[in-house]
Amino acid sequence: MSISGTVKVRCPGCGSAHDAVLVQSINARDQPALVEKLLAGELNVLVCSCGRRTLLEATLLFHDPEHAYFCQACPGGEAAMASGARAFVTIAHSQATCRLVPSHNALFEKVLILRAGLDDAVLEVLKVLLLASRGDELDRVLLFAKVDRDAGHLIWQLPDQHRTIASPFDGYTKLAATLRATPAGELRIDRAWAIEAARALTESGS
Ligand SMILES: [Zn+2]
Repeated sequence: MSISGTVKVRCPGCGSAHDAVLVQSINARDQPALVEKLLAGELNVLVCSCGRRTLLEATLLFHDPEHAYFCQACPGGEAAMASGARAFVTIAHSQATCRLVPSHNALFEKVLILRAGLDDAVLEVLKVLLLASRGDELDRVLLFAKVDRDAGHLIWQLPDQHRTIASPFDGYTKLAATLRATPAGELRIDRAWAIEAARALTESGS
């Protein structure tokens, strides 16, 4: 499945009209070039002659058949997320991992996690534990950047401070061994989910 088309958009900078190519579905096995574009931050970006770059926020489905993995970005609030959830019902791959995220940035992070061979549920809970240990607000944006298994650490981004932090990979491994398996059909593995999961973990451990 691959959907792309041309949409008429106006540059928010100068107001000039463009026909922009909009990709709404990526198959990671058949379209590796599109995955690279996504990871380079160049997918569905309108580049205007005035210099303005605009992300075309539209529903985008990422499918990696080799990992039986689907992730759907549904920008546009709860209504968009609800219709994304309905779309997943029709996909109905009971064995597949399905994720629903509210933005392209969130999809970007999920793809990085998938490529790193890591479990997003473990990473999300780890974020909460990291933020708590730093005395940070639990809703602070913290993004997975990469794993360095040789050096034994994970690298995270704190976008609001434009800097990265590292945490021991050991922490991931230990948490992965402790955390219950994510229930099948759990579409939203996000911060709200992870705060509950972390709470359940500390309660069961105490
Ligand atoms: Zn422009």
